[in-house]
Amino acid sequence: MNDPSLSSEETQFRDAVRAFAEKEIAPNAARWDLEERYPRELFQRLGELGWLGASFPTAYGGSGGGSALYALLCAELAHASAAIALGVYVHTALASAAIYHLGDEAQKSHYLPHALAGKQLGCWGYAEAGAGADISCVATRAVRDGDEYVLNGAKLYITNSPFADFMVIVASTAPDRGLKGMSLFIVDRETKGVSISAPFKKLGMGASEMAEIVFDDARVPVRNLLGAEHLGFLQALKVLTLGRIASAAFGVGLGRAALEEAVRYANVRMQGGKPISQHQFVRFTLADMATKLDAAWRLTLHAARVADEGLAHDCEASMAKLFATETCTYVCERALHLCGAQGYMRESAAQRFYRDCKVLELGEGTSEIQRETIFRFIGK
Ligand SMILES: Cc1cc2nc3c(=O)[nH]c(=O)nc-3n(C[C@H](O)[C@H](O)[C@H](O)COP(=O)(O)OP(=O)(O)OC[C@H]3O[C@@H](n4cnc5c(N)ncnc54)[C@H](O)[C@@H]3O)c2cc1C
Repeated sequence: MNDPSLSSEETQFRDAVRAFAEKEIAPNAARWDLEERYPRELFQRLGELGWLGASFPTAYGGSGGGSALYALLCAELAHASAAIALGVYVHTALASAAIYHLGDEAQKSHYLPHALAGKQLGCWGYAEAGAGADISCVATRAVRDGDEYVLNGAKLYITNSPFADFMVIVASTAPDRGLKGMSLFIVDRETKGVSISAPFKKLGMGASEMAEIVFDDARVPVRNLLGAEHLGFLQALKVLTLGRIASAAFGVGLGRAALEEAVRYANVRMQGGKPISQHQFVRFTLADMATKLDAAWRLTLHAARVADEGLAHDCEASMAKLFATETCTYVCERALHLCGAQGYMRESAAQRFYRDCKVLELGEGTSEIQRETIFRFIGK
């Protein structure tokens, strides 16, 4: 559908990403999912095209765009493969964005040009066995010792960690101060005392690789402290709002792929002598899916526009993330339902979408956390 709410530059960007993703990513998505391996070479390709830096300033190798452009990138990548989009999003909207927003000049010029070119890849390590929705429970410790911090602990479920060159890690530097005692560190993969487990087996997002990172007296130079000591994580939570907008866009892209598959199948599947799309229930279901997805995109674009105006957008980003990711789950479930037994088979696209969608409601703050955030704004 034409979208008059996009500028001509944004439309061109979307069409270019869409054409690339349809040719280079979508035809391989099912195979990469089964192989459970992220095609690392894609990062370099996306870097050469300037898309990893879509929302970063030109000074560090970015393209100088904003949140809206980044949302378009996420939506189009997720439309072709949600797992590929996940790896790109963790590398750009979390690991690289944390360095851009909180880093000093030396850190930015050391890491960002290589990261945005797709030559050095990043991951973001917050979650732990005991730290999920409750962000104050991080137990990984960083203790200063001269010119270094000594890290001990483990980070669980860390996307991109099997191949990441650098990691942005949340660690407690003052355990008695809760959230005001948590710092961020850039940890290079080759650091002694850092080990990474074998990749985990997951329900969906097969091509996206995740593992556990263990720190055993890992020594990180003081120059790799990111942001203020004790306050780095709080600072990151305030500036990394792009992640929620990106998750919302993700949901729209993946949901759109599921809708298209359901429409395609409904038009070819014959029952009772006619395509199932001629049954009113099927048509109405498809119409509801399309309408909810369009509303999700409007919320997403609105949050991105507010962010690009430099205005506070916490509530808008949470609303977009909540609605778009729950809509995506609804659409993927309905798509599988409409595709019947054929959709349930391992070779069908519908089952892959169904397996991929759920994590969008869990990452970047679960739906419950988004509702808590929204209530903070409306409950006054
Ligand atoms: C595919 C995938 C990729 C991931 N990649 C990364 C990554 O790259 N980096 C990273 O740091 N983490 C990553 N994670 C982990 C992710 O950050 C966590 O899953 C997320 O923080 C939720 O934590 P949890 O899974 O421990 O759930 P829990 O916190 O144990 O929550 C379980 C349930 O309880 C609910 N709940 C908890 N507290 C409340 C409350 N106060 N009110 C209402 N309900 C509540 C939650 O909403 C949820 O439904 C990834 C996870 C997955 C599945």
